[in-house]
Amino acid sequence: MSTVSENYLEILEEVKNLCEKSGRDKGECTLVAVSKTKPVELLREAYEAGCRDFGENYVQELTDKIPQLPGDIRWHMIGHLQTNKVKYIVGKTYLIHSVDSVKVAREIGKQSVKLGIVSDILLEVNIAAEESKFGFRPDEIMDAVTEISSIEGVRIRGLMTSAPICEDPEENRVFFHNMKQLSIDIKKQKTDNVYMDCLSMGMSGDYECAVSEGSTFVRVGTAIFGARQYTK
Ligand SMILES: *Cc1c(COP(=O)(O)O)cnc(C)c1O
Repeated sequence: MSTVSENYLEILEEVKNLCEKSGRDKGECTLVAVSKTKPVELLREAYEAGCRDFGENYVQELTDKIPQLPGDIRWHMIGHLQTNKVKYIVGKTYLIHSVDSVKVAREIGKQSVKLGIVSDILLEVNIAAEESKFGFRPDEIMDAVTEISSIEGVRIRGLMTSAPICEDPEENRVFFHNMKQLSIDIKKQKTDNVYMDCLSMGMSGDYECAVSEGSTFVRVGTAIFGARQYTK
């Protein structure tokens, strides 16, 4: 068995166990294999092991990979999305995790209406208010939800965050906890077109912590595929 499939199966088992431990159904959290920069052969290995959810960050890479792999894959767009690139991915993704402005949400809506579909989206939250990161600040998210909920062609399924890089994943527990609370608060408002049944948080370094705080999508790259090399 390849390393990729071993890694995938091991983490999948762990995610299921952590779900049960935190009192949820073991299928409530989906393991998304983050395959950016990785060749399709490695994605195929994960696919053979049973993986159907793949996460990509770059539009060009995503649209290159889709036709090379089986049609039953659910593609997750997890990287920052420029408005002018939206048209290339709408209708091809299962879920867009990284909606970080009203403007990009409007464009997703516009392109979806053109295709006669409704796109499922998550709103990205910069939960630790880091300078370098995309996403709505926690104090902006309520207004953003209200505004985006009225856009035709999109359906707000929940929130997404990337917690800070840290030595000890326990340091991020408070952020995951705050994300869950934020999603509960938003759900309570009962806004039309806002579901809040998805919470995308947890990466290679901190997914255990995120699952125990209520994540429904963990986005794991390095721990499945190995370290990435960004050489051009
Ligand atoms: C790259 C990336 C991941 C995966 O990170 P790993 O640390 O390799 O698991 C998850 N989420 C986002 C938004 C990413 O860009």
